[in-house]
Amino acid sequence: MQFFVGDIVQMKKAHPCGCNQWEILRTGMDFRIKCTKCGHMVMLPRVKFEKSVKKVLSHAQQSAESTSTETDSL
Ligand SMILES: [Zn+2]
Repeated sequence: MQFFVGDIVQMKKAHPCGCNQWEILRTGMDFRIKCTKCGHMVMLPRVKFEKSVKKVLSHAQQSAESTSTETDSL
């Protein structure tokens, strides 16, 4: 599974505030996520993050634009 900055993910375990939806702020070796309800931020290793994600609720919308212009030369 691939993750992008801006994605909203659902975690297996809910945050103490009652929310289990998190926004991805940073990807890479370490992931930084923010609770969408209380704004609490957590940094965790990619492996641990992938294990605790249940599913991606919404994808960030800034993906396909950059690659589409390259095929115009044909
Ligand atoms: Zn929270």
